[in-house]
Parts: sequence; structure tokens; C-alpha cells
Amino acid sequence: MEQGLLFVISGPSGAGKGTVCERILEELEIQLSISMTTRKPRQGEVHGVSYYFVSHEEFQERVKAGGFLEYAQVYDNFYGTPKPMVMEQLSKGQDVLLEIDTQGALNVKAAYPEAVAIFLLPPSLAELRRRLTGRGTETPEAVERRLGETRREIACMTKYDYCVINDDLEEAVERVVSIIKAEHSRVSRGTQHWIKRYEEEL
Ligand code: ADP
Ligand code: 5GP
Repeated sequence: MEQGLLFVISGPSGAGKGTVCERILEELEIQLSISMTTRKPRQGEVHGVSYYFVSHEEFQERVKAGGFLEYAQVYDNFYGTPKPMVMEQLSKGQDVLLEIDTQGALNVKAAYPEAVAIFLLPPSLAELRRRLTGRGTETPEAVERRLGETRREIACMTKYDYCVINDDLEEAVERVVSIIKAEHSRVSRGTQHWIKRYEEEL
């Protein structure tokens, strides 16, 4: 059985990662990994759907047990990708999508160079501010703090495989879908299977 592919999407807070990922799940057969976090749920966020919301102690126990593919401290909280689910899905041939911050993405790329990292960038800082404010989930201080991280995050972009500008949502979704499809057609992935099949027939 061929392994599934691992895709990572990151970008500044408010870039539209959650929105784009939701649409990708409608377009393609891909599993979104549900992260674990010590952050408190926002209104409407459901345990086991948005995140697994856990205590600091529970999170640290999992770190010690080696249960994360990657984890990082983002703002004041810890976020991590639970390892077993991702590995199981990949081994079943299922593609997996991680929506994680730049530190996590670079750690994943270092450990799994075959992972495909996509950076989602809003068309401008002014638009990023508008989206982050308009979402209404953060206090004005938290908005400023998140915007303040943008410079550091953008500096990481050169380590990514792709950059997609999220101006028009549908166009951004189409581009990410195209990237995922194109990655499946890479000669370096899975051609052995086809070579063998042809050899049997020739
Ligand atoms: P992130 O997950 O990157 O923090 P969200 O997906 O929560 O960002 O998007 C932030 C806000 O911007 C949301 O209110 C969302 O509806 C809006 N948004 C996302 N993509 C677009 C887009 N292409 N055009 C306009 N608004 C967008
Ligand atoms: P939020 O609090 O807005 O849901 O997420 C804050 C940041 O944490 C976002 O940049 C998001 O991509 C990132 N994040 C969410 N889950 C994970 C994870 O499992 N690992 C890492 N490294 N970052 C994550």
C-alpha cells in the first residue's frame, strides 16, 4: 500500500487557514489532523472537533511519552500534533493535512522532508488586521500581539515549498487543491508501482 502524503499549512493568524482548510476537506479526500492545545476553547469550539482541549499537565505528559509529531508554544499556549493518528492515516494511504504554526511546520519539514509545506498569506497587512479584528475572537491586545508575530512568520516563508495568497477565497482554495493534486503526480512519489505494473505486462 502506498503511503499517504503529509501536507502542512501555516501562515499568520487571521490569514484564513481555518477557512481554507475547511473548504479543502470538501474538495478532496484528505484528513485534517486535530491538534491538542492548552488554550481555552473559544465560543463555539468543540472538544475533539476544533482541538482536543487539555490541561497543561496532560499536555506535558504526552510530550514526555513522545506522543507528538511536533509541538510548540504559540503565544501563551502549547499546541501539538498527536502522532498516532497521523501515522496511522498515512500508513493507510490517506493524505493528512496539518494546520500548524511556522515553528511546528519547520520541525515537521526537518523530521519528514517529504512533507509538503504551504504558506498562506493574506494580500496585505491591512487586510490581515481587518480579518483578525472582524473575526471577533481576540481582544484588541491579542490582535496586536498576533499581528506583531507576522514579520517573524513571513521570514520563515522561504523554507516552505509553496506560498498561496489568500485574496479571493475560491482562488486560494483552487490553488491549494492543485498543489495537493500535483504532489501526487511527482515522479519521486509512487512511480515504482506503475513501473512494476508495466513490467508485468511487457
Ligand atoms: P486563521 O485560521 O488563519 O487564523 P480564519 O480562517 O479564522 O484565519 O480567517 C480569519 C477571518 O478572515 C475569518 O473571519 C474568515 O471568515 C475571514 N476570511 C478568510 N479567508 C478570507 C478571504 N479570502 N477573504 C475575506 N475574508 C476571509
Ligand atoms: P489558534 O489559537 O488561533 O487556534 O491557533 C494559534 C496558532 O497555533 C495558529 O498559528 C495555528 O496554526 C497554530 N497551531 C494549531 N495547532 C497546532 C499544532 O498542533 N502545532 C503547532 N505547532 N501549531 C499549531
